[in-house]
Amino acid sequence: MIDVGANLTHAAFRDDLPGVVARARAAGVGTIVVTGTTVAESRQAAAVADRFELYSTAGVHPHHAKECDSMTLAALRDLARHPRVVAIGECGLDFNRNYSPHPDQEKWFVAQIELALSVDKPLFLHSRDAHPRFAQIVKHHGVKNAVAHCFTGERDELHAYLDLGLYIGITGWICDERRGRHLLELVKEIPRERLLLETDSPYLTPRDMRPQPRARRNEPAFLPHILGAVARASARPLEELAAETARNARVFFGLHEPGSSAAAQRPLAA
Ligand SMILES: [Zn+2]
Repeated sequence: MIDVGANLTHAAFRDDLPGVVARARAAGVGTIVVTGTTVAESRQAAAVADRFELYSTAGVHPHHAKECDSMTLAALRDLARHPRVVAIGECGLDFNRNYSPHPDQEKWFVAQIELALSVDKPLFLHSRDAHPRFAQIVKHHGVKNAVAHCFTGERDELHAYLDLGLYIGITGWICDERRGRHLLELVKEIPRERLLLETDSPYLTPRDMRPQPRARRNEPAFLPHILGAVARASARPLEELAAETARNARVFFGLHEPGSSAAAQRPLAA
């Protein structure tokens, strides 16, 4: 399995990151894509990827759009050359929390789309309560290779993204009986070759995990729990779904196949 989105630079992991990565591998999570959410965090994410032979993204989350300046794009462009940086993002629109004004969010979303297109990297996208504006921007800029990470929306939003050719990232939100119930139905409508799995650690701890982890911290080792929920919802064999979503992640991010000679590659147990 591959966890395509984990915020391993978060303070929640400061004290035991080697243990977190080891537990993930022991649980069959062969690799992790560490999410970058600011320039500084993206640099740290690349350092974590180097240290543990993982991958990372480089981008600025819409929450932080108002902190972007004339140096931001050059820094991200620099990071994009790092061999373990496999996508631009997380970037997009968040009209739920509105931590940055909408014009700032749109400006830096578009700037990062243009960067991704110019360096030929996929996009790791965040969209929350931003439908249909988000889809309009993606369409207008001719984005072809992108994932709508942590999809939590409704059917019309899902199909708008699928029509645009986006991959869909499913998190432990699907395990939330209060707000994720609709995803149990929608996940069946995601074509097999477009589904990716992620924990979004340390956030979104699956609510139905028993016992709940200490301090309710989510971590990549819990990806199999999400896999199980998706497999049950879509009535698919666990191993098949694990192999398929891992293959999708390798195709999407351009990762090496398991068994290749690349030093970065760990065996990808299902
Ligand atoms: Zn996000």
